[in-house]
Amino acid sequence: MNYDGFSSKTKIAVIIVAAGSSSRMGGKTKKEYLPLKNGTVLSECVKKFLDSIKDFQLVITIPKNGKSDAEKALFSDSCVSSELKQKNVSFVEGGSTRQESVLNALKFLSQNEPPKIVLIHDGARPFVNEETILKTLDAALEFGAAAPGIVPTDTQKIIDENGFIKTHLERSKMIAIQTPQGFDFEKLFDSHKKAALENRDFTDDTEIFALFEGKVKIVQGSPENKKITYPKDYSNDSDSEKKDFKMEIRCGLGYDLHRLTEGRKFLLGGIEIPFEKGEDAHSDGDVLLHAITDSLLGASGLGDIGSYFPPEDDKWKNADSKMLLKTCWNDVKNAGWNLSNLDCVIKLEKPKFIPFRKNVIESIAKILEVPKEKIFVKAKTSEKLESVGEGKAVEVFANCILYR
Ligand code: MG
Repeated sequence: MNYDGFSSKTKIAVIIVAAGSSSRMGGKTKKEYLPLKNGTVLSECVKKFLDSIKDFQLVITIPKNGKSDAEKALFSDSCVSSELKQKNVSFVEGGSTRQESVLNALKFLSQNEPPKIVLIHDGARPFVNEETILKTLDAALEFGAAAPGIVPTDTQKIIDENGFIKTHLERSKMIAIQTPQGFDFEKLFDSHKKAALENRDFTDDTEIFALFEGKVKIVQGSPENKKITYPKDYSNDSDSEKKDFKMEIRCGLGYDLHRLTEGRKFLLGGIEIPFEKGEDAHSDGDVLLHAITDSLLGASGLGDIGSYFPPEDDKWKNADSKMLLKTCWNDVKNAGWNLSNLDCVIKLEKPKFIPFRKNVIESIAKILEVPKEKIFVKAKTSEKLESVGEGKAVEVFANCILYR
């Protein structure tokens, strides 16, 4: 199902509220930017709206100076980033409270051609479903304001200031409110402007709307549409959603072979090894760094060394392989990947590799800016067999594990 019934005449805006500091998550990682499925909690929220509504304007409220982090989290899912290229996405800096952040976003939307309907959704509710979004949208169009709600599972009471029950509430008449909440844009904007003049905090947009404009229609929400608030919401073993939070792990294999010829430097991992021959190559010939580059590119799916630096391009003649690796590794890191470990095998008849191993490992660790414990390199002879065994070539296999 994809909501396009109103797309031609009804302008819809979606505000994703993600300007908070996630202090209840322990303050370290912003919960909206935690990894989830193919992207993050934030990109997963946006994906649900992209899958449900054909055409809408997207506004995301973010912390002060937080645009690049927000973009990284949003575009980490390649499906979302390619779909968003066709759409209007804006980042608006939030205020010190959720209410202020929403008001900033509403002001932004009012600047030109305001929408008819605005949906406001928590950036930490990635499990919202299409049915909830569409029911809320329909009811907002019909009644001017709507929000999804579910009957609480626990019986609810009102207590007094000393902790004694004051009022027994009837559970069937109670509703726990979720998002998205949908509103007639002009009416919500007016009520938010009025609320800003009052010197108190409101619980949410439905309270503000109800106070200054009118009734809010409740539609059926979904128990899965939970808000991530505490770390346990994010990692609960008994939770069926736990599997979605699993780290993504990829393995990459790189291979390279170079002829050994006189009059060339013999480079391994950026270190010059004293020897009568060196690698014959268009670049500086560092066979170990080439295999490592291919391994990292392969694991990330970004390409291979040949597609990055075509050998027929004169630009790469005698190129420094350290620089080639650095360039590729930066792209891999920018795609969100971290190195778990890198293990390499060099097939080499002569000279002995062991005396240089420590320096080679440290050199690779320095290029990749990772601890040297993540890298290992070993060498094998080829028992005098074939080109390596006859001392005519050097061969390398590199294997890496990346995670994000
Ligand atoms: Mg090569």
